[in-house]
Amino acid sequence: AAPLTAEDYQRVVDEAYAKFKDVKDGANADYIPILATVPSEMFGIALVTRDGKIYAAGEQKYEFSIQSVSKPFTASLIMAEQGPKVLREKIGVEPTGLPFNSKLAMELYESRSVNPLVNAGAIAAVSLVQADSEQARWNKVLGNIEAYAGRKLQVLEEVYDSEYETAWSNRGIANLLFNYGRLYSDPEEALRVYTRQCSIGINTRDLGIMGATLANEGVNPFTGKRVLDAEDVPELLAIMATAGFYDESGEWMYRSGLPAKTGVGGGIVAVVPGKFAIATFSPPLNEAGNSVRGLKAINYISGELGVGLFGPN
Ligand code: GLU
Repeated sequence: AAPLTAEDYQRVVDEAYAKFKDVKDGANADYIPILATVPSEMFGIALVTRDGKIYAAGEQKYEFSIQSVSKPFTASLIMAEQGPKVLREKIGVEPTGLPFNSKLAMELYESRSVNPLVNAGAIAAVSLVQADSEQARWNKVLGNIEAYAGRKLQVLEEVYDSEYETAWSNRGIANLLFNYGRLYSDPEEALRVYTRQCSIGINTRDLGIMGATLANEGVNPFTGKRVLDAEDVPELLAIMATAGFYDESGEWMYRSGLPAKTGVGGGIVAVVPGKFAIATFSPPLNEAGNSVRGLKAINYISGELGVGLFGPN
């Protein structure tokens, strides 16, 4: 096949936007009350290549909460800081086949492992970040996500408040982790740092750049800064491939053939290793918690460009 050109990229991004912008299926997440108030019609796509070209359509500026899309990036921080072996041994890399906020996943922890993309593993991941205070730990978590995005980011304080006030389930998970010896800081502190991480505001374009940094073997194509060793990137993408789409990860891999991570704020980032990333933002989610327009758009783009890792789809 002929190499993909700038026109190809822009054309498929525009087509995906036009095809799916009027889809009305799904509903905003509302278990975090403030997420229900984000305008549902917003829809953005940003395809960012490893050499720093951006092909965009729709909403690019609105800052939505990163939510679970933060999880692979903090897993990356643990890899960068302590090596992939620590991530594998202290958290694990097994898909759970259970909902992201599963307490049952805790039982699995006793016999094998979970992974850093479900809440149990993600709360454990923030607690693993080496720091001698909560503030220092938070600074590292935020600094790492900023390095991926290539700019300073802010916590959306009203999202943080709304989520922390209602974080009973995650508090339960943090306490259980602690009980099982799988949490490496005070539970309430881990809950706060985790919830702040989920409340970081990013826009569609930031998310595309974060993904492009993974597509570019761990170097941000805009700042030139290395965030993760090239040799650790495949392992992170492997975790995203098996667990990035909640309990729809198999279905997702079957359709798109791409490692990706989604969040209940409506963001999705998918990575074509060595080439580019596709980020989407659209708040309404399907039953599994994945952005309806976003997943359709990424599937479409992956199919049109023929970049699914297992062959054309
Ligand atoms: N902060 C959210 C939670 O822990 C993240 C959920 C998500 O995006 O999957 O419930």
